[in-house]
Amino acid sequence: MSLGEFDLIARYFTREVRRAALGVGDDCALLAPTAGMQLATSSDMLVEGRHFLSTVAPERLGHKALAVNLSDLAACGARPLGFTLALALPRVDEVFLDGFARGLLRLADAHDCELIGGDTTQGPLNICITAFGEVPAGAALLRSGAVPGDDLYVSGSLGDARLALEVFRGHLALEGMRFDAVRAAMELPQPRVSLGLALRGLAHSAIDISDGLLGDLRHILRRSAVGATVDIDAVPRSDALAAQAPEWQRVCTLAGGDDYELLFTAPPRQDRAVHEAAAQAGVPVTRIGRIDAEPGLRLVDRHRVAVADTFGSFDHFRP
Ligand code: ADP
Ligand code: MG
Repeated sequence: MSLGEFDLIARYFTREVRRAALGVGDDCALLAPTAGMQLATSSDMLVEGRHFLSTVAPERLGHKALAVNLSDLAACGARPLGFTLALALPRVDEVFLDGFARGLLRLADAHDCELIGGDTTQGPLNICITAFGEVPAGAALLRSGAVPGDDLYVSGSLGDARLALEVFRGHLALEGMRFDAVRAAMELPQPRVSLGLALRGLAHSAIDISDGLLGDLRHILRRSAVGATVDIDAVPRSDALAAQAPEWQRVCTLAGGDDYELLFTAPPRQDRAVHEAAAQAGVPVTRIGRIDAEPGLRLVDRHRVAVADTFGSFDHFRP
C-alpha cells in the first residue's frame, strides 16, 4: 500500500531538531536566532524540465534543491540555520523519495542546516525550498556595496554546468570521464558557504552566480551605481571547457548559468586577506577585473583589446 501524506512526511522528512526551537509537526516551526543577529532568508523553486532534467538521479536533485538556496545564504555571508521544503509530487515513489531525502539531508548535515518544516502536495514535480540563516547585524554582504577601484573576484571555475547542458542538448561532445566531471558540476553544485562567511568584513559586495557571470555582475553594477572592466580570458575554467572552441568557452564562462560560485568585490589593499580567506575556505578565487566609476560593463581580452558584450543573461521569460 502506498504511503499517505503524513506517513511520507514522517518517514522521509522528520528528524529531531538540534538547533531550532521546534521542527516538523506543528503549524509553525520556531527558529531561535542568536541575539544580535539578523535573519537571512531566501527561496528557490525547481521545476522539472526547466531547472532539471527528468533523468537526474533523485539523490542529486535533493542535493541541488538545497544547494541553490545555501548558495544565496553564502552570497550574503550568512550562516545556515534551517530550511523548509515545499514539495509537489506526481505520485508516492519511495525509490525517488529515498534518494531525494538522502541527497538533501546529507548536504543539510554538512552545513548544519536543519529541515524544520514544509508542505507536501500532489502535482507535477516541483520543489521549493526556503532557507534561513543568520548574520551579525550590518555585516551581510550585499550587491550594493561595490566601490570604484575594487578588485572583482570569482570563486572556483565557471561554465561547466552550461557545458554539460550543451552536451545533453547534443551541441557539444565530451568523452565519458570528462562528461562525468562536468555533469557533476551541473547536478552537484557546492554552495560556497565557508567562503561567504570568511569574506564578511573583507568584501564590499557579493552575489552568487546563478544566471551567468555577466548578467549577475550587472546586478552588482546597477545596485552599486558603478561600472566594471572584466578580462574575459582571466575567467577560470576547467580543462574540459578550455578544450572547447573559443566561442563556446566564452558563452559558458560569461553567460553559462547554474555555476553557484561567488562573484565579489574587495578593495585592492585586502588582496592578501581575500586569498587567505579563500585558502581557509578551501576554494580558489581569481581576480577577473575591477570596478570603475564610469558606468557600464567593458570586456577586454588578455591583450587588453576590447571585446563586444553580446552575452545576455538567463531569463525565464525571454527566449
Ligand atoms: P498545515 O496544514 O498546518 O500547513 P501540514 O499538515 O501541511 O500543516 O504539515 C504538517 C507538518 O509537516 C508541518 O509541521 C509541516 O511543516 C510539515 N511538513 C509538510 N511537508 C513537509 C516536507 N516536505 N518536509 C518537511 N516538513 C513537512
Ligand atoms: Mg497549519
